[in-house]
Amino acid sequence: MTAGASGPAMRISGRAQTFTESVIRDMTRLALRHGAVNLAQGFPDFACPTELKEAAKAAIDADVNQYAITWGAADFRAAIAAKIGRTYPGWTVDPDTEICVTCGSTEAMIAAMLALVDPGEEVVFFEPFYENYGPDSILSGAVPRLVRLHGPDWSIDPAELRAACSDRTRAIVVNTPHNPTGKVFSADELALIAELCQRHDILVFTDEIYEHIHYLGPGGHIPPATVPGLEDRTVTVNALSKTYAVTGWRVGWTVAPAPYTEAIRKVHDFLTVGAAAPLQAAGVAAMGLPPEYYAGLAQEYRVRRDLLCGALENTGFALRPPDGAYYVMCDTTDLDPAGDDVAFARRLVSELGVAAVPGSSFYADPADGRHIVRFGFPKRLETLRAATDRLRLLERTRAAHP
Ligand code: GLN
Repeated sequence: MTAGASGPAMRISGRAQTFTESVIRDMTRLALRHGAVNLAQGFPDFACPTELKEAAKAAIDADVNQYAITWGAADFRAAIAAKIGRTYPGWTVDPDTEICVTCGSTEAMIAAMLALVDPGEEVVFFEPFYENYGPDSILSGAVPRLVRLHGPDWSIDPAELRAACSDRTRAIVVNTPHNPTGKVFSADELALIAELCQRHDILVFTDEIYEHIHYLGPGGHIPPATVPGLEDRTVTVNALSKTYAVTGWRVGWTVAPAPYTEAIRKVHDFLTVGAAAPLQAAGVAAMGLPPEYYAGLAQEYRVRRDLLCGALENTGFALRPPDGAYYVMCDTTDLDPAGDDVAFARRLVSELGVAAVPGSSFYADPADGRHIVRFGFPKRLETLRAATDRLRLLERTRAAHP
């Protein structure tokens, strides 16, 4: 049936009009179209641990095919709580009342916002930000207040953070280790956040998906939930995705005090009902991996980081190697004096065959990211070498047009 003059007006909601599609995910589609090495969207191109695959296959063979409990299979929640307790002694989580298993950390974050923020309440984000947080706040009706992370070390100006927080603030969104900058929030910064949260009765929503991917050594990552004053006001968001190289499985969770968890569970139930049951069984195996797995993970990522950062610097990008996560923000001033990050990133994909994310997608004002592109390095060394070989062509371009 065709819609004629009297057909339905193709109207979409005001909410859906206020944000664009994800630039990160769009770059992946562009990379596929050009056969480019995808250093844009952050997902691994290497295998996940065998233990997870075996457990997932065993669960499917055992016909674990029906809904798990909507807020997560009991054994998976118990395993998450036990792993948290082993990793951060002193942090005790009740798996019966303080965990909600979700479809990835993406759902975890938006479910937390929908459950705990009322329309019109302010939510503080650090900028540059992971692009999901913008639409998350629009969908939950929150009013974003941005606080700048200042390069090159992406530090917080305490006065700016203080000025952004007030009795209108409902939550501060922390992401540590941080996407896209690689910043790892320090004890002092978290203490300041705790002070402000207590003064103004603010919650912390913390995305810790890169918890085990940092280059600071043991104790380098501090979960806000373990910071004095934040224990009872923190919603921690995490997932299997990055730590175990299974971004497509979509298994994540929230950890929060029981009353908050109860609300998150309700929202989650009506958003998605639940995460894939056999993959939650594999999550139990993931939580049981020994400490050496995490030490090895960080070490392997350090090698990838050093390879990519060194090659990018040789090519003419200016950068500060990240302390955590698996992205590096690069200044393109020498390579792209015009400062058009989107055109530059498109050229990288179509002419050189390497995808990166234009910096503007991490800023409210696109002009702030015009001299930046983000490369990700959750890749095999051969993939990174293929990318850096291609990027070397930029050196020649630069030599030809100094
Ligand atoms: N965190 C990933 C990135 O920044 C993307 C995750 C996703 O696309 N859901 O590239």
